[in-house]
Amino acid sequence: MTNSDLQIKNPTILTGIRANSELTLGNFLGALLPMVRLANTHSDKSHINIFAPDLHSIIADIDGELQPNIIRSFKYYLAAGLNMNEHIHFYRQSRVPAHSELCWILNCVASMGDLNRMTQYKDKSNGKDSVNVGIFDYPVLMAADILLYDAEYIPVGEDQFQHLELTRRIAEKFNKKYAKIFTLPAEPKKQIAFMNVDDGIRIRDLQNPEKKMSKSTKSENSKIMLSDTPEQVKKKIMSAATDSIGKINFDMFNQPGISNLLQIDALVNNIPLQDVISTWAGETHYGDLKQKVADDVATFLNDFQQRYNTISDQDVLDYLVAGEEYANKIANTKLLEAQKAFHLR
Ligand code: ATP
Ligand code: MG
Repeated sequence: MTNSDLQIKNPTILTGIRANSELTLGNFLGALLPMVRLANTHSDKSHINIFAPDLHSIIADIDGELQPNIIRSFKYYLAAGLNMNEHIHFYRQSRVPAHSELCWILNCVASMGDLNRMTQYKDKSNGKDSVNVGIFDYPVLMAADILLYDAEYIPVGEDQFQHLELTRRIAEKFNKKYAKIFTLPAEPKKQIAFMNVDDGIRIRDLQNPEKKMSKSTKSENSKIMLSDTPEQVKKKIMSAATDSIGKINFDMFNQPGISNLLQIDALVNNIPLQDVISTWAGETHYGDLKQKVADDVATFLNDFQQRYNTISDQDVLDYLVAGEEYANKIANTKLLEAQKAFHLR
């Protein structure tokens, strides 16, 4: 078996979730849970890197304090059912200085034109008088996060696909111009196939279901947070925006609010969406559907919160010590290759 066979069979899978604030049910169902399932099924052969991108966190305001937020984000993985073993590595980005160092080198490879095209940057800077450079440059740091570990699979939502493509372009350019040292992450199509989710689940904003649910949305009724009480969940779901069609159908275009509720119910119960759609086909009482979804989400979150409360900060810190030792070893090796390519070493 050649090295490249090995790499394809045992890819490194990498994921990070920004710890700026608490997560929404959308983040949980669309990102965290699929990642935990993937890790549990692949960690016998693949390395699974789960990191807190704290350097990404500081490009924006942080709700609460960064350190407790970081610990909380790792607890989320454990509470979501991640089975830790020696192939699963927890680390904090800023504790692995190679991320920042490689980012600088890649800044000298990436093009302004490419970065200017990033829609997330355009969205986040739109209408602001002053925007920090970190917001502009963070896709390059993200490229460093991925390339340091030769990670092939980065289970992210579609909003990050443009950044993944950018990472591939930077790696390609580096490999061609300086030295062939980086593994290109799989293209978004292959990422989706590998993750085995239908082109990225998108939970919608409860008040504006044309938009996706986002943790930075100001309106509290638009999003369900993982710490919400059953009462909060019920209030938010019962007041979710629907439509005036008066028939329960799955139709994200014409009935995004109702379709979103059907989608959520399927996911929290871990049953096929088609089954939920069939159950409600022809029904006309939106209130009944809301009641059912509200109960199911409340139960789901209650179970999750109970598991979360059994995990201590020290449990997480112990995993971080081991993970950061591993991450520094791998990342420093790759950084040295990049430095040598530029004759810095
Ligand atoms: P922000 O408003 O700060 O952008 P966000 O809720 O969009 O917050 P991100 O930090 O951008 O969250 O993304 C974290 C992960 O959650 C990503 O993998 C993203 O694809 C996924 N994600 C975000 N929102 C949803 C959603 N509504 N449904 C499913 N997955 C989502
Ligand atoms: Mg987002």
